[in-house]
Amino acid sequence: MRREKIKNILDSEPGRDVLVKGWVKTRRGSKQVSFIAMNDGSTINNIQVVVDMQAFDEEMLRQITTGASLAVEGKLVRSEGRGQPLEIQARKIEIYGPADPEKYPLQKKGHSMEFLREIAHLRFRTNTFGAVFRIRHALAYAVHKYFNDKGFYYLHTPIITGSDAEGAGEMFRVTTFDLNDPPKDGNGRVDFTKDFFGRETNLTVSGQLEGELGALSLGEIYTFGPTFRAENSNTPRHLAEFWMIEPEMAFYDNDDNMDLAEEFTKYLIKYVLDNCGDDITFLNNMIDKGLLERLNFVLANDYVRITYTEAVDVLSKSGKDWEFPVGWGRDLQAEHERYLVEQYYKRPVMVTDYPMDIKAFYMKQNDDGKTVRALDVLFPLIGEIIGGSQREEDYDKLMRRIKELGIPEKELWWFLEARKFGTAPHSGFGLGFERLMLFVTGMKNIRDVIPFPRTPRNADF
Ligand code: ATP
Ligand code: MN
Repeated sequence: MRREKIKNILDSEPGRDVLVKGWVKTRRGSKQVSFIAMNDGSTINNIQVVVDMQAFDEEMLRQITTGASLAVEGKLVRSEGRGQPLEIQARKIEIYGPADPEKYPLQKKGHSMEFLREIAHLRFRTNTFGAVFRIRHALAYAVHKYFNDKGFYYLHTPIITGSDAEGAGEMFRVTTFDLNDPPKDGNGRVDFTKDFFGRETNLTVSGQLEGELGALSLGEIYTFGPTFRAENSNTPRHLAEFWMIEPEMAFYDNDDNMDLAEEFTKYLIKYVLDNCGDDITFLNNMIDKGLLERLNFVLANDYVRITYTEAVDVLSKSGKDWEFPVGWGRDLQAEHERYLVEQYYKRPVMVTDYPMDIKAFYMKQNDDGKTVRALDVLFPLIGEIIGGSQREEDYDKLMRRIKELGIPEKELWWFLEARKFGTAPHSGFGLGFERLMLFVTGMKNIRDVIPFPRTPRNADF
């Protein structure tokens, strides 16, 4: 017999024989009959298996406990019990792997998220994490589908990078040196010309700079890969290793950029609502009662578009007692971003035209000489979910900025050449995949929307 997934079985008609393989969620019953709730990961819903205790070997039956994996063959029938439409009357049971009930850590419901993080190798088995990681898959698929359907090309930018122009002190070094005894030059300094790549290298903080080069030829590209930041931010919104989606588009100005950011995020939310209904409903009931309403609300409303200067104005007039001061020239902090989104405008907000001094060197300079064509997208409960900009395509202006900031221009020669040969207006942004996951799942901590989180002092598993 061919094994079938529980998702398909639950969608099918009774009256036939089926073979399922999966893990025991719960088992209850009497001396005569046992009811096993089985799950195989294909859906949050379990299939009920009914076992006539007299018909099976006692020793085998004893091994059917929470967490055990098994194969069940039997007849699919309508269930007379409440809570499920169908059940399987077991005829044959094979245990693959028992799970000693004395030792299996996931016995009871309602373990804390903190505890589950310590057993991240097993937390997939819980309803919550099953739902989260099915949604994570769907969201990743939707990213590729959206861009593919729009004619964007998926560009693989390097994970090991020789440029640290963007990283400024927040990068993880990549080396094959014996750290206890690295080769030294004449001045007693570590000699990186002897290292694997013949130079200093780091893990990338962004694929943008390389992405721009792709866009200035292929037209519209996106990256979707891991990025690494050695910032010591122990917050519910920062990881040291996270996944970022970075579209980069030739001939887009910042208004086109905003249109794309809004259409793209709405598409992803809608995709999950349309395709992950059971999982979202579960999370709405168990994790965050406002989830569905929030997702639908974002879909139904236009994002607000304001400039940084307008945002500072709103914040200054709020009468709030801020932890971080508000003033033109200061960066917006999470508390400010969330006030704008959750209390003032009550919907996602796109803030543009930030002061030049608090944004990256490559952003397009406005005529006022003070601001750049930056774009941050702020979401309810999350704050910044997207950071982007129109890029400075003028060689002289870009060079002037690089010199002002003392950025090592030699390392950026290839990036600068894009402005020498056939330069063109272009724009792009970076969407933090896990930040979007937080929004879409209602989970509260970014450590709980990536399978194995890396954060300061934590790289277990
Ligand atoms: P923040 O101010 O929140 O630290 P950032 O300004 O450093 O973010 P960008 O460099 O603009 O962020 O990166 C683009 C996007 O990547 C952000 O909008 C966010 O969604 C995501 N992101 C940035 N840093 C992290 C991180 N440490 N962990 C998870 N996602 C991140
Ligand atoms: Mn940051």
